[in-house]
Amino acid sequence: MPELPEVETVRRGLEPAMVGARFTRVVQRRPDLRFPFPKAFTERLEGQEVRALGRRAKYLLADLSSGEVLIMHLGMSGRFLVTQGGATRMPGEFHHEHGGLGAHDHVVFQLSNGASVTYNDARRFGFMDLVPRSEIETCKHFAEMGIEPLGNELSGETIANLFAGKRTPLKAALLDQRLIAGLGNIYVCEALFRTGLHPEAPAGSLATKSGEPTEKAHQLAEVIRDVLSEAVEAGGSTLRDHAQVDGSLGYFQHSFRVYDREGEPCVTPECTGTVERLVQSGRSTFYCPVCQKRSRTR
Ligand SMILES: [Zn+2]
Repeated sequence: MPELPEVETVRRGLEPAMVGARFTRVVQRRPDLRFPFPKAFTERLEGQEVRALGRRAKYLLADLSSGEVLIMHLGMSGRFLVTQGGATRMPGEFHHEHGGLGAHDHVVFQLSNGASVTYNDARRFGFMDLVPRSEIETCKHFAEMGIEPLGNELSGETIANLFAGKRTPLKAALLDQRLIAGLGNIYVCEALFRTGLHPEAPAGSLATKSGEPTEKAHQLAEVIRDVLSEAVEAGGSTLRDHAQVDGSLGYFQHSFRVYDREGEPCVTPECTGTVERLVQSGRSTFYCPVCQKRSRTR
């Protein structure tokens, strides 16, 4: 499943093909993906210029000259193929394998700059929607959504505010999209490891009794941003390396420090710990029991 850094990489890859260009023709090959396409989907796009391409959590947002926003979500297996100036590339395709293109090409955008952008999704868990810009914050996709982890809102203070009084395990609180949006399992494991926080420690332990952020809360905010930015940068390096568009395992997957490393030695210098796995809310958590002691949340 594409995680936030991959979606950001896709955004960066689509930007030069889409921003400033008009949709000259939109081909929609089926009535639905995960959800039905919005009414008159192609008509509402054709003739409109893409003014900006943004991202909120794992959603791509194309601002149109009509005042509507085209919302695109990649689901489990969605990806874009960009053909421009005779070359074809697939931004963000760097950590899962895929089959051939064609059968699952569901939407094709032809743009006034000559680019064509194809949305391919074998499992069809992705979707597209059109929402007026003025209603974006209150629409069903974003109304309940928490803060953006790569934005300036994330700080020790916001973590303390969001987590104060909560007994839920840290791991679960960090995965709760209503608190912080778009943080997936891999990056939560990595961030907790780098901060030296136990995944089962209560979320509320990152705030003092008076609700102030602990030292670890400040560290965690910084580490979350680092982990995500590093993955975006790694995705960016794959973008430049066209050899990897064949779906081979990408560069950044090799840089995980705990994720999927159960039984392997901890990478912290001098640490004699072994990475362990536990299951929280049905999902695997990887951590080093030596570096991530339950008691150290101050
Ligand atoms: Zn360790």
